[in-house]
Amino acid sequence: MDTNRFVVEVKKTPKKSDAKTRVANFNEIYADFTPNEASHQASRCAQCGVPFCQHGCPLQNNIPDWLRLTAEGRIEEAYRLSSATSTLPEICGRICPQDRLCEGSCVLEQSGWENVTIGAVERYINDKAFEEGWIEAIAPAVERPQSIGIIGSGPAGIAAADRLRTLGYKVTVYDRHDRAGGLLTYGIPSFKLEKEVVARRTDRLAASGVDFVLNVNIGEDVAFEELREKHDAILIATGVYKARRLSVPGCGSRGVAAALDFLITANKIGFGDTIADFDNGRLNAKGKNVVVIGGGDTAMDCVRTSIRQGARSVTCVYRRDRANMPGSDREVANAEDEGVRFEWLSAPKAVLGDADKVSGLKIQRMRLTTPDAQGRQAVEEIHGAETDLPADLIIEALGFEPENLPVLFNQPGLEVTRWGTIRTLAGEFQSMVPGVFAAGDIVRGASLVVWAVREGQDAAADIHHYLQTEALSAADADVEALALGAAE
Ligand SMILES: Cc1cc2nc3c(=O)[nH]c(=O)nc-3n(C[C@H](O)[C@H](O)[C@H](O)COP(=O)(O)OP(=O)(O)OC[C@H]3O[C@@H](n4cnc5c(N)ncnc54)[C@H](O)[C@@H]3O)c2cc1C
Ligand code: SF4
Repeated sequence: MDTNRFVVEVKKTPKKSDAKTRVANFNEIYADFTPNEASHQASRCAQCGVPFCQHGCPLQNNIPDWLRLTAEGRIEEAYRLSSATSTLPEICGRICPQDRLCEGSCVLEQSGWENVTIGAVERYINDKAFEEGWIEAIAPAVERPQSIGIIGSGPAGIAAADRLRTLGYKVTVYDRHDRAGGLLTYGIPSFKLEKEVVARRTDRLAASGVDFVLNVNIGEDVAFEELREKHDAILIATGVYKARRLSVPGCGSRGVAAALDFLITANKIGFGDTIADFDNGRLNAKGKNVVVIGGGDTAMDCVRTSIRQGARSVTCVYRRDRANMPGSDREVANAEDEGVRFEWLSAPKAVLGDADKVSGLKIQRMRLTTPDAQGRQAVEEIHGAETDLPADLIIEALGFEPENLPVLFNQPGLEVTRWGTIRTLAGEFQSMVPGVFAAGDIVRGASLVVWAVREGQDAAADIHHYLQTEALSAADADVEALALGAAE
């Protein structure tokens, strides 16, 4: 294979609908590559001796190998290789912040030739696999008697369910929402990830014998202890949902909404559900001046959803500058193209209006301090520099923390870290309660889908090891009992 193709083949990303067209709907803004585009782009890979892209990928995907197969038109083999390390490859291909992961580590990018479009190729080969019917229901080689209860149907829960069912275990996934998928379904908007793409994965698991029990809040509707009695092992994959809230004067107004309430409502409307707070306008941006506070991916999803709902104006307020935004650069650029205004170096000072209705947000201008010895810059107020922004709806996107699971699950032995995430044994996914495992955001704190997939897969391997060890010790105990019986 010619490994110098990148010299003649320039980087091309998949077609993106223009800003004016895309803000009129909630469809994904990027198209799939055509077969020709996929093989041309994949052929740019230099097949480096040390694949830094693979190190940059939390799943350690065998990227150069499936790029080579794609370049050679061997798409089914490329799919099989890609799905060997990832249970949700077409989803990661769509929503990973590749600039900070695989593509940011690509040697071509580092040497000024521009990265291989790894995420788009990964999406292409796995979408193709669905189209061609290569992805079938899981048919385990052996059926095992043990069952595992998974709390949470987000990417960590889905990834674990996939791996455990493949190993032949009986798997039941519990979720408090009415649809499976966690934040893939109810957090991330469909212009980044269409809901059919998530549903075909959960539908496949259901067709493979995974039991989904929805609309059940573990700890409230069903006691955690009941699940422990029912299953041989439990995986907690509940994510983090306690929203950090504003603490400025006026912040309790009805016109101030939490980001996830707004996004879950928008996603439910997309499914055709009726939501009272959307119909009565509380969680609907139409015709409003919307101000979103925060600088992460959640904030970007809120501003872009508001634009699509027909807001009069949308402004994002963030206390640092653009270079320090935690959100993906690509998403900030997309938001700017779609008409979102950014107030950098600005912090909320007071919500204006009354308890029922907001009229604006007073913001305090900030500046970055000179870097400390480690190069870190803090932010400080510029005294007297304040401005009022008009607002009819203020959305807080300030991040999430774990709920108090030891209390919710009535499990004092379930140890948590000082951040409230579940503490696990060193290098493992088993919690301090034997037989109870944890993975995803509830272990790592608010993070990324690709990390949830990785941890769900690794936790499944730990659960398998635990159950095998348990079975062996039970068998040893039986043999010992028999031997003792014979001796008596
Ligand atoms: C708005 C938003 C946008 C994001 N965008 C991106 C992005 O573009 N790219 C990216 O990589 N990451 C993104 N993320 C982060 C990513 O979504 C999360 O890191 C990932 O979903 C975590 O997966 P998880 O399986 O641990 O938890 P979740 O996806 O949160 O799933 C947890 C599930 O557990 C259920 N649950 C919780 N408690 C209970 C209970 N007591 N009983 C029953 N069920 C329960 C919940 O209903 C939920 O379905 C985004 C996050 C948000 C909030
Ligand atoms: S999973 Fe994410 S980081 Fe890994 S290759 Fe795919 S897009 Fe890149």
